[in-house]
Formats: sequence, C-alpha cells, structure tokens
Amino acid sequence: MKPRKHGEFHHKHSLGQNFIEDESLLERLADLSLVSAEDCVLEIGPGFGALTKPLARRAKRVVSLEIDRTLIPILTVALERYPNAQIIEGDVMKTDLARLVRETLGEDCSLRVAANLPYYITTDVLTKLLRELPQAKSIAVMIQKEVGDKLLSAPGDEGYGPLAILCQYFCEVERALDVPAACFTPPPKVDSSFMVLVRRQQAPCVVTAEDVFLRLVRGAFVMRRKTLANNLLTAFQLSREEALVCLGRAGLGEKVRAEELTLAQMCALSNEIVGHIG
Ligand code: SAM
Repeated sequence: MKPRKHGEFHHKHSLGQNFIEDESLLERLADLSLVSAEDCVLEIGPGFGALTKPLARRAKRVVSLEIDRTLIPILTVALERYPNAQIIEGDVMKTDLARLVRETLGEDCSLRVAANLPYYITTDVLTKLLRELPQAKSIAVMIQKEVGDKLLSAPGDEGYGPLAILCQYFCEVERALDVPAACFTPPPKVDSSFMVLVRRQQAPCVVTAEDVFLRLVRGAFVMRRKTLANNLLTAFQLSREEALVCLGRAGLGEKVRAEELTLAQMCALSNEIVGHIG
C-alpha cells in the first residue's frame, strides 16, 4: 500500500477531490496554463497544493481558493517555501471573484486562471469566471472529457448549448491534453481533458448589448424541446409576432431551434432583440 503522504486526510467525493500526484504531469499542466513571470494566477481548489507549486515557480503571485477547511493547515505547510502563494479559504461559487482578485492581486495584475476543477461545479464555475473576470487572459482547467467536447461543439452536435456559446464567444478554446482517470487519486469514473481558453481581444461577432446577448444565450435553451421562438417569449416577454419579426430579421426561420444557431446567428438575433425590448 502507498504510504499516506498527508496523514489522516480523507478525500471528500462530494467536493470533487480527485488529486494529481504525478510531478511531470503537474509541470506539464503548469506549462500549458501559459503562466509566466509577470502573471498573477487565481487557482480554484488547490487540494494539497500539488499544482500550486509549479504555478508559483512560474508566476509572480498565486492566490488559491479552497473550500475544504481541513486542507488549509496542510496547504500552509506544503507552501511554506512559496512566499508568492497565498491560500484563501472559501467557496468559489459564493465568492465575488472580481473583488477577491482586486484585493489580493491588485487592479493591474496580468491575470490567468488555472485549476484542476471539482467536476460537480464545472459549468457554473466556468460561466462565473468568464463573466466576473473579463481581464483574465486565459483560463486553463482540467474538466471531464465530455464537458471538454461540449466546449468545442458546434451547432447540431450533442451537448451544444449555452456553455459552448459563452466559451467560444469570449475565448479561443483548445483541448491541450487528455488525461486518463488513472492519473488521479482516487481515480474518478470519467476521463478528463485539460482545456485552455484564451480570452479573445475582440469578440468574433458584433453584439450591441452584451447583457441581452447573455440573456439570450441562457434563455434560448431553457426549454430544449420547444422552438427558439417559444423560448424568446419567456426570456424577453416578447409577443409571438415580435419574436417572429426578430427571427426573420436575423435571417432565421419560425421553427428554428436554439441548438441549430451558430455563434454569429446568435449575435445577430441578440442585436434584433435589443431593438424590441427598449
Ligand atoms: N489542485 C489539486 C490537484 O490538482 O491535485 C486538487 C484538485 S481537486 C479535483 C478539486 C479541489 O477543489 C479540491 O481541493 C476541493 O476541495 C476543491 N473544491 C471543491 N469545491 C470547491 C468550491 N466550491 N470552492 C473552492 N474549492 C473547491
């Protein structure tokens, strides 16, 4: 049996605690995270600090947010020799990330995000990171391989939906590495992919009101079995007539479903809706 490196620590399945111990894999992940000496890193879920260390060796500063209180003393010892690494106890989903970054890393830091994410909150965390940290130059995350497929999906693909559209609107998305379940302790039931999202300097299509676009992306898929027109009625309180006019002006048919729309069509439709909701 392998000696227990961290005493009596018990992995909490409910917190997605599948840790990586392989040093060469961790180095590779830190490289793929695009972190260099002028960058500050926000890490979600440092666990035992295995990824935090190679990140701290590359970055100016690292701030790591960990929900599990029992890991804090372990992390404090593990990161003793890394004065540029700071641990914050907290739940990423309940944290104002913009404020956290401002208060710990400063307004002007060149920000990157890196994480071996807890898979139970992947979609919510990615959405939160994209929305709350527009200044993050990149978001490099280990996620379930199938969710990686979703991020890269196109109209008509299984899994194409709000997450793909958001990620592709804000970022260039790349699958940097596939990582088999056996690389984790304990191994999860699924394989993983390390995905690198590089924030775009310029959006791939013109959106006149980003809040409307984001509302559309969310609202369009709420009732997947219904047509997009039906979803628009609820999302924007439009009359059927208004919804059909918006679709028509965006070059879309009455029966179209959200999962058929390209990013460019979603942008065009959002711009038409802006004119109807005042
Ligand atoms: N970074 C470590 C590694 O690569 O070995 C651990 C990764 S493990 C997949 C996910 C980590 O996220 C765990 O340490 C877990 O406690 C933490 N975590 C889970 N839910 C969290 C949340 N809501 N907010 C912050 N951290 C969370």
